[in-house]
Amino acid sequence: MSRRTVACACCGAVGPHRGRGLIASCYGRAYEEGTLDRWPTVRRRTARRQGARLRERRAAYLALRTSGMKQAAAAARVGISVKTAYRYEHDEGGRP
Ligand SMILES: [Zn+2]
Repeated sequence: MSRRTVACACCGAVGPHRGRGLIASCYGRAYEEGTLDRWPTVRRRTARRQGARLRERRAAYLALRTSGMKQAAAAARVGISVKTAYRYEHDEGGRP
């Protein structure tokens, strides 16, 4: 995987990403100083994690509907469109 070009999280210098939003020289310095934990890790979303997130959202929506919340309100609560809400319910074979 090629390294992304980033503006370093600590100093703003532009260069290839080494880790934690830092370029190599700054990452190395932070590593030597033992201050790497000051910079949060930046992991890209994987297809697997994205899938888990969508399943959680879908389950949350259907749980709200099962508890009696109106479709539009339940959709707004979990942050999906009404069209997506229809799709979730259709996939369940009708109204939950
Ligand atoms: Zn830096």
